[in-house]
Amino acid sequence: MTVEPPADAAMAVTRCGFVALIGAPNVGKSTLVNALVGSKVTIVSRKVQTTRALIRGIVIEDNAQIILVDTPGIFAPKRRLDRAMVLTAWSGAHDADLVCVLLDAKVGIDAEAETILTTVANVQHKKVLVLNKIDAVPREKLLALAKMANERLAVEETFMISALSGDGVDDLRHALARLVPSGPFHYPEDQMSDAPLRHLAAEITREKIFRQLHQELPYQSTVETDSWTERNDKSVRIEQTIFVERESQRKIVLGKGGATIKSIGAESRKEIADIVGFPVHLFLFVKVRENWGDDPDRYKEMGLEFPRE
Ligand code: GDP
Ligand code: MG
Repeated sequence: MTVEPPADAAMAVTRCGFVALIGAPNVGKSTLVNALVGSKVTIVSRKVQTTRALIRGIVIEDNAQIILVDTPGIFAPKRRLDRAMVLTAWSGAHDADLVCVLLDAKVGIDAEAETILTTVANVQHKKVLVLNKIDAVPREKLLALAKMANERLAVEETFMISALSGDGVDDLRHALARLVPSGPFHYPEDQMSDAPLRHLAAEITREKIFRQLHQELPYQSTVETDSWTERNDKSVRIEQTIFVERESQRKIVLGKGGATIKSIGAESRKEIADIVGFPVHLFLFVKVRENWGDDPDRYKEMGLEFPRE
């Protein structure tokens, strides 16, 4: 005897789509990705512009797979690296099925937010507006801000959330699930992030550098994972190189008697080990590479396009 599948089985509709998060630096994009996904996949920092590559978090909600693209900040580009970040951010918006425009409710519509609203208005995709950081703003101000923003940009829906406290995040997640197009899932269901582990490991070390050295070493460093070897005893040996632009910066990263790099390495090793679930042996090297910000290979490693001018 054969068992007939239930009549509605063929009708079970899945949805799937890319959602680009667009907003000024510090608006809370990374925090929101983490809140939506529910686990740490991207770096949060008090410093602006630390997210250099597109890192995706993947959420499954209401039969929909939502692929989040955490774009680097959109801002007036000066250096070549900054221009690469902007290029990548905008190409992210154009590839997306849905654009999620974030505003910092504390900041309101400043010059930067104004530029973003004007530019996003020209992107031909469905948009939602998200006012973040509502925990820090009185209600009247929020309503006024929502009204002003809606006058400048046509959106499907407006959400008021606190990515930090989680307030409103569930509603937003359900709405994103509704708004992405119908279609099959792009990724296996158990996948949280498609950032390869070696890339994620480099991001983690970079975050530790920022945390320890943000005063002395603003943005002139990058980290690459050179090798990743799984050993027979189930431990992983990882070698990474930290690139800085000047000898003086190399000394800062090393610290007195190597104390700083040792402590960066210890913190990073612990976090990488937590994620991979195996003991990790981490070896860090510091190299001076003048003008790495103009070297196409470094961009490729970070998942960025290299601006030709
Ligand atoms: P990104 O640059 O857009 O990725 O912003 P981040 O996610 O790195 O957040 C920048 C800063 O804003 C961090 O200090 C966050 O803790 C803070 N932040 C993010 N969301 C909220 C929120 O809902 N409320 C408050 N009060 N702070 C937030
Ligand atoms: Mg970020």
